[in-house]
Amino acid sequence: MDEAQFLGESVVESSVKLADMGKRVIVAGLDTDFMGRPFEPMPRLLAVAEEIVKLLAICMRCGNPAVHTQRLVASEELIVVGAGNMYEARCRRCFEPHLAHEKIEEAKNQPASRAHAATT
Ligand SMILES: [Zn+2]
Repeated sequence: MDEAQFLGESVVESSVKLADMGKRVIVAGLDTDFMGRPFEPMPRLLAVAEEIVKLLAICMRCGNPAVHTQRLVASEELIVVGAGNMYEARCRRCFEPHLAHEKIEEAKNQPASRAHAATT
């Protein structure tokens, strides 16, 4: 199964149950969230797995190996599912974990007239 970070705690129990029955269970997902924090339940899956393969993306800024998921939109919700242009892969050096928060602050400080102009 893929995108296991969205499946909740029950995915851990289900995976262990299947593995105990002799099934080969392959689970993929993001290990960290948009802030670079462990993305539950992935850490628990990593703890019970026999084998872990950590894949890297390519940093969209500099081309180095990327471990982070950079959120590009102003939201601090843990899960914001959306179009491809809302996230990009970033390396450790280019990752800006507080970018989503900064964008929220930026939007608050916009003069009201400019916001109005954008709607007309
Ligand atoms: Zn980079």
